Amino acid sequence: MQLAVIGGGPGGYAAAFLAADLGMKVALIDIEANPGGVCLYRGCIPSKALLHAARVLTESREAAHFGIQFQPPQIDINRLRTWKEEVVGKMTGGLGQLSRQRKVEYIRGRASLVDARTVSIASSPGGSGERRLSFEHAIVATGSFPAMLPGLPKSDRILDSTSALDIASVPKTLLVVGGGYIGLELGTVYAALGSEVSVVEMLDGLLPGADRDLVNPLAKHVEKIFHKIMLSTKVAEMKEVKGGLRVNFEGSNAPEGEQVYEKVLVSVGRKPNSAIPGLEKTRVEKDPKGFIKIDPQRRTAEPSLFAIGDVAGEPMLAHKATHEGRTAVEVIHGKNVVFEPRAIPAVVFTDPEVAWCGLTETQAAQENRPVKVARFPWGASGRATTLDRNDGVTKLVIDPESEQVLGVGITGVGAGELIAEGVLAVEMSALAADVELSIHPHPTLSETVMGAAEVFNGTATDIYRPLKK
Ligand code: FAD
Ligand code: NAD
Repeated sequence: MQLAVIGGGPGGYAAAFLAADLGMKVALIDIEANPGGVCLYRGCIPSKALLHAARVLTESREAAHFGIQFQPPQIDINRLRTWKEEVVGKMTGGLGQLSRQRKVEYIRGRASLVDARTVSIASSPGGSGERRLSFEHAIVATGSFPAMLPGLPKSDRILDSTSALDIASVPKTLLVVGGGYIGLELGTVYAALGSEVSVVEMLDGLLPGADRDLVNPLAKHVEKIFHKIMLSTKVAEMKEVKGGLRVNFEGSNAPEGEQVYEKVLVSVGRKPNSAIPGLEKTRVEKDPKGFIKIDPQRRTAEPSLFAIGDVAGEPMLAHKATHEGRTAVEVIHGKNVVFEPRAIPAVVFTDPEVAWCGLTETQAAQENRPVKVARFPWGASGRATTLDRNDGVTKLVIDPESEQVLGVGITGVGAGELIAEGVLAVEMSALAADVELSIHPHPTLSETVMGAAEVFNGTATDIYRPLKK
């Protein structure tokens, strides 16, 4: 085999499909029945399906503000779960078909390495034992798994993102440990379905790492939909008791005494899936967190092995995995390319959404890098007003000398769609003037990107922001 790809997530399947399109003989190995990985089976896709349902529920309530009253929604949790599974099935089934159309040999089973040129695949239960396959190159794309807090009791009431996405039930009370991507997205889902959601976050703000002015509109919104948000606080102890989990907290916002929750979702990060049996027989190196060490071409220290996606480092995002996969395949195909994006977009699909790309204001401050920041508040956006959603902001992080757009941040409904323009601007070295002079359609939320560039240049007419003399 010319190429063996271990792991069929957005990194692995994209790599395998591109390699096949380039004429390589390719095997794609994964434990699941079809390609898709965490993203399609237990991540991006099921969570976004549920977040869509959550948004519909919330909109039906919010419509009262402009005079439309709906009856309280009836939630058929079984149908919702089935629909979510149908969405996953449609996508993963489609990938199975794409794999067959390309004549990628999809091998179902768990892979381990015999040596740097041979993979062994133990087939899933019911399969026909072990199979060995030799390869010229392999791409390791085995992804990541949820981190757990140490010292927790064994209990069905403790969920990780995978079991939370199963929505086996809607608990009356849910404690979310960790106010990052998963905690906020799945907390939003459960709150919309009717759970009383509390969040405990050990740092002093939600979504640590993101610029505070982007997080603020979200923080205001979740304060309304969540029961309690405990920042700078940790779980000190958790015990299973009748009817729930009894939790003691420590930290500046710890509630007095113990609290009981029907379920607890632990969302404190993910760990790389790099404990692949046999990997130790190769020259592949790992960093202290367990990520496989790679170079800009996604090569490991073993010449025949490449690594991409979550197993090869942060940010653990599907689109980063996919693009790394493309780089690795092109390198294997003989092209001298490297993976060095200026802007990997991050989108938190909460309500409102938070999205950013390129240089953030926080990073610029950490690096002592002078930047100018221009903000366009969505209070001045006609489209946001017609949507009854002025709770947003769009900002550009600009190099003061060249006036090049270095980063873009957007919070508001649909921010995840809008950020793509920011990625293009950063990647194409657009100047603030390029963004300002590109005519954006009216009335759209995209105008806020142009508006932020106008603010930078002191030419915004929809708000009063004259340049400081
Ligand atoms: P994965 O998708 O993790 O796939 C790895 C595959 O390798 C798996 O299918 C696994 O079965 C297989 N595998 C592992 N070990 C072996 C082995 N030994 N043999 C054979 N197969 C093996 N990212 C986004 O960009 N947008 C989102 O909206 C988003 N939402 C998320 C929501 C949740 C709840 C979670 C948990 C994650 C989310 N992510 C999101 C992150 C995203 O899922 C990951 O970044 C992405 O899936 C990484 O892709 P990957 O190809 O590296 O690996
Ligand atoms: P995360 O890193 O986004 O957030 C974890 C949070 O838990 C952090 O805020 C951290 O400070 C906090 N934390 C850690 N230990 C804690 C403790 N003991 N007590 C309280 N808080 C604690 O991790 P996640 O939410 O588990 O998501 C994992 C990764 O999956 C993300 O980083 C992201 O790469 C990916 N993901 C992406 C999306 C998306 O793109 N929309 C959605 C979900 C997941």
